[in-house]
Amino acid sequence: MAKYIFVVGGVMSGVGKGVATSSIGALLQARGFNVTAIKIDPYLNVDAGTMNPIEHGEVFVTDQGTETDQDIGNYERFLNKDIPDINYITTGRVYGAVIERERNLEYGGKTVEVVPHITDEIMNRIKKVGEGIKADFVLIEIGGTVGEYQNLIFLEAARMMHLANSSNVLFVLVTYLPMPGMIGEMKTKPTQYAVRTLNSAGIQPDIIIARSEKDIDKPRKEKIAIFCNIKKENIISAPDIKTSIYEIPVNFERENVGKLILNAFGMRERPVKIDNWQSLVDRIKKLENVENKKKPQTVTVGIVGKYFETGEFVLGDAYLSVIEAIKHAAWKNNVSVNIDWLNSSDYEGTNKKLSSLKKYSGIIVPGGFGSRGVEGKINVIEYCRKQGVPFLGLCYGMQLAVVEFARNICGLKNAHTTEVNKDTPHPVIDIMEDQKISLRKKDFGATMRLGAHLCDLKEKSQVHKIYSKKGQISERHRHRYELNNSYREHLEKAGLVFSGINLDKNLVEIIELPSHPFFIGTQFHPEFKSRPFSPHPLFVAFIKTASRNL
Ligand code: GLN
Repeated sequence: MAKYIFVVGGVMSGVGKGVATSSIGALLQARGFNVTAIKIDPYLNVDAGTMNPIEHGEVFVTDQGTETDQDIGNYERFLNKDIPDINYITTGRVYGAVIERERNLEYGGKTVEVVPHITDEIMNRIKKVGEGIKADFVLIEIGGTVGEYQNLIFLEAARMMHLANSSNVLFVLVTYLPMPGMIGEMKTKPTQYAVRTLNSAGIQPDIIIARSEKDIDKPRKEKIAIFCNIKKENIISAPDIKTSIYEIPVNFERENVGKLILNAFGMRERPVKIDNWQSLVDRIKKLENVENKKKPQTVTVGIVGKYFETGEFVLGDAYLSVIEAIKHAAWKNNVSVNIDWLNSSDYEGTNKKLSSLKKYSGIIVPGGFGSRGVEGKINVIEYCRKQGVPFLGLCYGMQLAVVEFARNICGLKNAHTTEVNKDTPHPVIDIMEDQKISLRKKDFGATMRLGAHLCDLKEKSQVHKIYSKKGQISERHRHRYELNNSYREHLEKAGLVFSGINLDKNLVEIIELPSHPFFIGTQFHPEFKSRPFSPHPLFVAFIKTASRNL
């Protein structure tokens, strides 16, 4: 029978609950257990697909085509396994299912109420995850912070699960201890309040992960222990990490988190195999050069984006998987990487700053939607093509590379994607047939071409080599538009190679320019499948080419 570990957040958001959850999972996995993780997002949206990246951060897409929160991406990267659709729970999904059942008279004429019907639905979903894969451990990260109205119902379900079988359920509180500059010391009071708030929901944390700038010291551990009614050994010091989030499993192991969890469940400790994590961290530290001050070889990569409005932090969030994939690939190539944000609108109009692109060893144009900044992206792509700068276009980036090629090489004046210009004389990128229906019906939720689709690779192409001569690959998608097949011949004759094709629907999935050192565009999003222990081959090859002149 699976054990359930609920991870909740106290004091404030953004302190790394997702990474803490993933790291605990990795440590249990390192003990040979079958582990999975659930993300609960307490919003009414059914999934993250309809949310703006500025609002929500990246929409992570799974093999099954679920448009999820970026934490699911963290689980996949840390646990090195695919996370299925049922592991993603939102308020919208839960209420939607209950209301549908009520409409179908499945509650036998009873009054349908938040308690017990919503809580039952939540518990059933959680248990189904554990039973489905015969998991030893299921981690359940409850989004938001304790004290919010939004996640109360999920805490209530967690409390009920604990009540039903207390030996099988554990609560971890990830909290934050601020160190206000004018006081100069770490304060425990907000954590005390967070625990009291959690207590008022009927939950006592078993383990507290004390996030802070620095290590938490003994007196403060004792204080939290006394005031929060918790053993001081169960308070984990989790200071800010210096180099990489992948240090956290190693740090947690040093703090005995794995053993503590087993003990809390009354289980015996097991041998731990964590050398893969240790060597990853050693490699990252050597490359990012935290310990010794020697300058390692660094490649500078530019990402052309438009999600700048609320500052760079949001931009980073909006392209999280792309950033992760670049880093994984850099480490694999034994180089360090500098990532710069390039605001696409800076490369438009008469004052465009194309000469400032000289410093980049490689440029990525990632996924995107809509017309803003598109001409800037096209100009950057043209620059990469002409100057031989390694270019990787992801989804929209690939589509715009086709537009650039059509305009400037094929002489198709005003060629465009119909996403931006419906009346273009040359719709080289056009809406997919089945997508027209969804758009007409304003049926926007989960209706894009989503998730894993197969792609056949052209023999002897660049990508064929990059993917170790595999004939067929599977990659994740999220788009409504595609290369218009009626322009294929024209583009191909002019030198564009279609090196990846989805045979089911006859769709171009990969383009490349054979004469260029690295000019590859993919209709899919390879970034979603890159993991620290299995970096994505396309990113690895991109960084390899980008670092050829170091
Ligand atoms: N906007 C484009 C489409 O819908 C590309 C989508 C993307 O980059 N994810 O086809």
